[in-house]
Amino acid sequence: MVRTNDQSVAGRALEAVTVRRLSRAVDPPLISGIHHIDRIEMNVVELAAGGEVGVGYTYAFAAREADSVTPLILHLCESLTGSDADPLATKSAPLWDRINFIGRGGPPVMALSAIDLALWDLHARLEGVPLHEALGLPAAEQRVYAAGGSRSLTTEGLVEEALGFRAARFTGYKMRIGAEDWRGDVARVAAVREAVGPEIELMVDANQAWSVPVAIEAAEAMGPLDLSWFEEPVDGEDFAAMAAVRAAAPMPIAAGETSYGPGPFEALVAGGCIDVLQPDLMRCGGVSGFLEVAALGRREGLEVAPHLFDQVTPQLPPLTGEGRIEMLPGWFDGLFTGFPLPVDGRVRPGTAPGTGITLSAEALAENVVGVHEL
Ligand SMILES: [Mg+2]
Repeated sequence: MVRTNDQSVAGRALEAVTVRRLSRAVDPPLISGIHHIDRIEMNVVELAAGGEVGVGYTYAFAAREADSVTPLILHLCESLTGSDADPLATKSAPLWDRINFIGRGGPPVMALSAIDLALWDLHARLEGVPLHEALGLPAAEQRVYAAGGSRSLTTEGLVEEALGFRAARFTGYKMRIGAEDWRGDVARVAAVREAVGPEIELMVDANQAWSVPVAIEAAEAMGPLDLSWFEEPVDGEDFAAMAAVRAAAPMPIAAGETSYGPGPFEALVAGGCIDVLQPDLMRCGGVSGFLEVAALGRREGLEVAPHLFDQVTPQLPPLTGEGRIEMLPGWFDGLFTGFPLPVDGRVRPGTAPGTGITLSAEALAENVVGVHEL
């Protein structure tokens, strides 16, 4: 199904590598169970070959964190431009060996994932087809839900935000929980459910803030609120804790956005920890890793609901059924052009070659803080 060795693009060497560091304020800041997010600090990688440019990106919430990823991207790209292996055929596969010594998680995998996305984008652009077509995926429509619900909002502010997203035709709303006062969180979720009514999907996300007993008590209390899922209730790397919450919770459990590479998803599924798999393109290993997680989900009959990257995920619909795309309105608005926006809460993949995305003139003028080239 996946044409990784397509002869029409194989054999083309990368001709140029550009990495741009971008910085942008998140206003108002988003307060989650464990984060105070007031900036996104991005690395955008552009790989050129055959007159086309593939685009990938990764981000962090502090400049020094993003700065630590930049040299890793350049280092890994040097190995692609300087080897006999055909990067358009192999994508990021050889890079996993390259990062064996410094670690298959964190910044090395963020760098690898951004490169993998750019390589897949370049591959599809050279074929002259949208990414989903290069991957053998259908041009299927997906639902789009809005993520928001900062813990800094008052209950009235939460309700106002949720009603705004409902009016904008989003099919769902995800809000943050994870406060020490879990009963207060449950009351906030109940207030939002009462305000938006039964038609819109409602999800909650604790960002791994809670202990097992608190997560279970809160899950039981939220049982009547018809939640589509409870995301990251506890430490996502503590499989026993995740499994304990899943066994007791009356709603589906979602996780995986902070899992590096596809391997941890196998462990989450094998451990009985999870109902909804949430691969993040800059942490799961790019498109290549995403495809592995998608295959795992199909095999196990579990939903795959990608984390963010809504500029790209319309190109990654499930083989059957309707997928679910996450948008964080405001964070990335205007930075990229060339991707489809939702209409009435649904989106179809664009028809331009590859992902179609390019950095906007506005982003190039206002957000670029550094440029690195090979
Ligand atoms: Mg989350």
